[in-house]
Amino acid sequence: MGGLCGCDRPRGPAIPDRVTLLADVAEIVARSHDLDETLQNVVELVAKRLDTDVCSVYLVEEDLTRLTLSATIGLYREAVGRVQLPVGEGLVGLAAERRAPVVVEQAERHPRYKYFPETGEERFSSLMAVPLIVRGVTIGVLVVQTREPRHFDRREVDMFQTCAQLIAPVVINARLLSLVGQSEEEAARSSAQLALQGIRVPSAERVRAQRSVELRGIATSRGIAIGRVHRLENPLDLADLDYQPSGDPEQEERDLLRALHEARRALDDTREEVGDQFGPDFSAVFHTHIQILEDKGFVAKLREELRQTGNAYEALRNVLQAYRRTFARVEDPYFRDRMADVEDVGRRVMEQLLGERHHTKPLEEGSIVVTDNILPSHFARLDLDKIAAIVSEHGGPTSHGAILARTLEIPAVTGIERLLEIVQPGETAIVDGGEGNVFLAPDERLIAEYQRARQRYAIAIGHLDALRDLAAETRDGRCIALTANCGLVSDLRLVEQHGADGIGLFRTEMLAFAHRGFPEEDEQEQLYERVARFLAPRPVTFRTLDLGGDKEMPSLGATPEENPQLGCRSIRLSLLNLDAFRAQLRAVLRASSSGNVRLLLPMISSIGELRRARELVEEAKQELGSSGTPFDAAIPVGVMIEVPAAALTAEALARECDFFSIGTNDLTQYTLAVDRGNERVAHLYDPLHPAVLSLIDRSARAAARAGIPVSVCGEMASNPLAVPILVGLGITELSSTPSAVPIVKEIVHGLDYGEAEEDARRALAAGTAEEVHAIGAARLRHAGLLEHPDIGPWLSQIVQRESLS
Ligand code: PEP
Ligand code: MG
Repeated sequence: MGGLCGCDRPRGPAIPDRVTLLADVAEIVARSHDLDETLQNVVELVAKRLDTDVCSVYLVEEDLTRLTLSATIGLYREAVGRVQLPVGEGLVGLAAERRAPVVVEQAERHPRYKYFPETGEERFSSLMAVPLIVRGVTIGVLVVQTREPRHFDRREVDMFQTCAQLIAPVVINARLLSLVGQSEEEAARSSAQLALQGIRVPSAERVRAQRSVELRGIATSRGIAIGRVHRLENPLDLADLDYQPSGDPEQEERDLLRALHEARRALDDTREEVGDQFGPDFSAVFHTHIQILEDKGFVAKLREELRQTGNAYEALRNVLQAYRRTFARVEDPYFRDRMADVEDVGRRVMEQLLGERHHTKPLEEGSIVVTDNILPSHFARLDLDKIAAIVSEHGGPTSHGAILARTLEIPAVTGIERLLEIVQPGETAIVDGGEGNVFLAPDERLIAEYQRARQRYAIAIGHLDALRDLAAETRDGRCIALTANCGLVSDLRLVEQHGADGIGLFRTEMLAFAHRGFPEEDEQEQLYERVARFLAPRPVTFRTLDLGGDKEMPSLGATPEENPQLGCRSIRLSLLNLDAFRAQLRAVLRASSSGNVRLLLPMISSIGELRRARELVEEAKQELGSSGTPFDAAIPVGVMIEVPAAALTAEALARECDFFSIGTNDLTQYTLAVDRGNERVAHLYDPLHPAVLSLIDRSARAAARAGIPVSVCGEMASNPLAVPILVGLGITELSSTPSAVPIVKEIVHGLDYGEAEEDARRALAAGTAEEVHAIGAARLRHAGLLEHPDIGPWLSQIVQRESLS
């Protein structure tokens, strides 16, 4: 085989955009009926899109250490299933190991090149390999090769990566479906396979946690709604249906096949409607449904059951039960939530089988939709303008339906035990999607309370949105930079939405949580670069890994400690794991060439730690310099002031770093000896305690004397009562949750720097945190903010809550 892909045509096809690629993936899903076919269609399509001679997929084996050639176009087909290579070996293994693309023009000259005669590979020169990653776990590698040497440019690499991103979930779904209905023995084997792919199967004795609070569910999509319950009648309860079989097995089979066909057609219509309404990314959520309906195994199992039972309904019910059993073994909530997709497909088929259509009563304006499970199809079937909120008995926040609700900003709560049993159609309900609460038939007082909260919120947001493009400047002209705290690339949207002046704290450890393991250097560099480029010229402050303490990451296998908050956490951990620390420093430096990147060191408690970290930064710079890698040689290196020792030695630290960022969350915890995560001492935790203020003051003064900037990046920066005091203490940057930026801006606009300085002086002299609260509240009142017609009532409520807490 080989040369199947038009190698004699001119190279460099037009690069397809994301929409085209999504359409391609939809096409693959529609045409594939099992794992092998899915993979084969993937390689054919990718080879065509990139105009390469070869495209292959390697899947990671269950022992986690090997990759197997699982589909190819261009290499010998007989090699499929036979060629295996260890993760880390050869260029393909390198892509899996690095979890980043490997692009090589002269593959055979590369030191990691490995030759596999079985593949016929010697005929190919250039290679590009990208890992297939699902929820942070590498499940395989997608590879293209060309006969003639070819330079893959940046756009092609990006496109290839996008392809891999879109294809990876389709591959894992196909693999998941291939496991259904296996024997016990096979299932045990599959467990290893699933575990390998991040879909962990719990051991028998592990019991899933049960929720116990009535009408308390999982906060799934923020927002408050009050309305009347519209109960989506479960169209068909497959477990209990009065089905009359025809008595003729052949007729039953014909009916079932017709139902499958019709269900598929209906699904295509829905998919198209959703695509038209919300765009192709949304319609992609139907891929799983189509994969199930097209799955050879699904149809074969139905036929087999039908042969045994002679009853289409029984056959469908039994097959769904087999799927349920498989999915119930899956520990990962994301994959477990895919069962909702199977149920949805089952209902669709049954509706067709019975010749019924799904009928829903028309929705009233402002309905609270109550359902068994939030399904993507709901968003296509229902009139979205009329849905005030959606709540469900089952499902979790990562189901496709939940994701859609969030994206569409429809308040949602999921996983409310016995909801359908309790709820009455037409009754009034309050849904608080941010808290995960649902109140049925609430009294007038509660309704009035939530109505006020909702109104306050809407008016205040409307007012604050209008400030988006204004600078944060006090009445007497002192500018305060208002930046945002982030941790994921997806947070960038919020930074934009709320008009932040940059990122004051990028918590890189969040990447570790999102990726289930910290990304490799190249992947980190790509992520950091993406963030830096997106924000440029606005600054981005990357904080090095701050793991340990309450940010425990099980996969790190850290040694348990008696008192982790005082143990080997944060910079201490980094200085012990030098390889990982060096890799992170290099990644941040490599991303710094846009000139807007700052590096922040957490939990510094002595000048020795700062010096050691700076030495490592210098070494990393030299390393990059000698390999000709561009970076910002003048990258500012800052210190987090979050332990009292740092605040008390701020003079010395300020002389040897470029900026301070005060982490008041930890500074409060360590100053007041109050565990920030222990609700029993939560009433003692208060960053406005004069002792904490005194350390902030000391740090700010040291920074001013050394001529370096100082920011606050703890939650305190978004506490309205604290803002006047922090500004008065000389803080010039406040970094808060993105959504708090507008309200902080409005407060800054209402301040006079001279008055704020006076507030700060009084606060430092205060005896208790309560006195400081009063000073902050008086300033907000004096600035007219608490009486402000738009934000006053809402702000008063926040102030009241902060004062009480
Ligand atoms: C802090 O301690 O104030 C801080 C910003 O860091 P984190 O909350 O991530 O510990
Ligand atoms: Mg901290």
